[in-house]
Amino acid sequence: MTASVHLATGAASALFVQNYLSAKYDWQYDIGRRYLLGFVAGLLSHIVFDAFPHAEYSLHGEALMAVLCLEGVVMMAVIPGWQGPVMAQLLTWGMIGAALPDAFYFVGRYFDIEWLKQAHSLLHVFHGKVLFIYSSHPIQAMIAIAAVIYVRIKSA
Ligand SMILES: [Zn+2]
Repeated sequence: MTASVHLATGAASALFVQNYLSAKYDWQYDIGRRYLLGFVAGLLSHIVFDAFPHAEYSLHGEALMAVLCLEGVVMMAVIPGWQGPVMAQLLTWGMIGAALPDAFYFVGRYFDIEWLKQAHSLLHVFHGKVLFIYSSHPIQAMIAIAAVIYVRIKSA
């Protein structure tokens, strides 16, 4: 999946799992656990969504980095942007969790760090494993938009 889908579904997952935390995890006093759960949910969402065969970037090198940064900036604006500090952090933790598996790849390759490259491979063992479904770029864009809408409505 492309960056926007991962970031948007990561934030949506971080928000979604909060429904399953009992009310005793007070939004004021136990917020750390909610952030941690959001981060884990974001990470898992990356593995789940990458399991679907999907269109990849045709760009490489600096052009790819520029697109990734642009997607990151846009998603930061439309997801945690204009949120209260607690919600903004929760959504950002989900996005960090969702970005991490692929960040491992880029950082590991750039700095030639073997364990990061291995962590990336490990997190992608299910990559493209769900057959019969193919997520093209337009479908990925629609998933990203749907996830952003879900976050904006649910966090309001
Ligand atoms: Zn990935």
